[in-house]
Amino acid sequence: MNIAVVGAGFSGSVIARQLAEAGIAVEIFESREHIGGNCFTERHVTGTNVHRYGPHIFHTGDLRVWEYLCRFGEFVPFQFRVFATAAGRVYPLPINLLTINQVFGTSFTPREAQEFIASQSVPMGERTDLEAYGRSVLGDVLYERFFEGYTTKQWGVAPSELPASILQRLPVRFDYDTAYYSHPIQAIPRDGYTPIFEQLLDHRLITVHLNTKVDSDSLRSYDHIFWTGPLDAWFGHSFGRLRYRTLDFVEEVHNGDFQGSATMNQCDVDVPFTRTTEFNHFTPWETHEQTVIYLEFSRECVEDDTPYYPLRLNDDSVLLDRYLEAAKHETGVTFVGRLGTYRYLDMDVCIGEALDVAAEFLTTL
Ligand code: UDP
Repeated sequence: MNIAVVGAGFSGSVIARQLAEAGIAVEIFESREHIGGNCFTERHVTGTNVHRYGPHIFHTGDLRVWEYLCRFGEFVPFQFRVFATAAGRVYPLPINLLTINQVFGTSFTPREAQEFIASQSVPMGERTDLEAYGRSVLGDVLYERFFEGYTTKQWGVAPSELPASILQRLPVRFDYDTAYYSHPIQAIPRDGYTPIFEQLLDHRLITVHLNTKVDSDSLRSYDHIFWTGPLDAWFGHSFGRLRYRTLDFVEEVHNGDFQGSATMNQCDVDVPFTRTTEFNHFTPWETHEQTVIYLEFSRECVEDDTPYYPLRLNDDSVLLDRYLEAAKHETGVTFVGRLGTYRYLDMDVCIGEALDVAAEFLTTL
């Protein structure tokens, strides 16, 4: 049986591994010069482990995914803490009791804060968009300080055009818990993600072809294809391009500690970048003389850029439906992952879905 997997990110690598362990040979085609997709990490000349495509912190509530991943490398518990600079001051994110008390100059207890924020709520009415949701959950002051500017920069459109689901990724807390994620498992691989991928793909039945761009025509001879590239690329973009945001990173090297934290969001709209990441803070067990910073700029993704965030505005959803309909009529191909299904997915969800896809495929044999 001839199996091709397109893309060596988490979705493709996990599927390849599962099939190989079931005794099936798999060929992986990866257009980039490295494995790991956007989770790729590498050592900078300063020694710092950098995440070339932006910060990735593993977090999950799915024990099955966690136990699976731990087979392929060592993870160190890591609680991601994010700070935000807004209107010239620094606050902890996600919004928590400390943020609220700092913004309003209060010393609210949890209950008082909850009552106060409820009193600030602007009812959503018929609206379902991100702005309406933000103003209803947080009130005008918090929404405008932390979400209006950042979201406009990140997505390139007014928050009123975006779905509320983007903001629903973030909790609002009425205690002093300043961890960015709420999941019980939060960790980072001791030596970065790349060695995890090397282990995942280290199987005698897996062959990886790097720098190899393929398309639906060049894969015709395979019995089955797992496609983790952009869904519309499989169809040669015949109905038009699904839109994404891409990121540009500007690297800086400094001495000492640059910002005191792994990530500093920039919530003001007149600061052109969305956040700065200081990678040394992801590996507190390592010591480096210098520190590497990435300034992160978001913009529309055009041909040959790396796609990051599916935009999914109304027009994109209409286009997506056309591609999904076309996908239903394809045989011998499974569309998986963030790009293959055009969804905003965290790593754990990609891994869980890849495990399911592989298991289901194996039952059909
Ligand atoms: N967001 C924001 N201000 C912030 C952080 C997040 O407005 O300081 C909004 C923004 O629209 C972002 C969304 O919340 O796209 C989800 O944030 P998350 O941190 O999950 O984004 P990611 O890390 O996936 O880029």
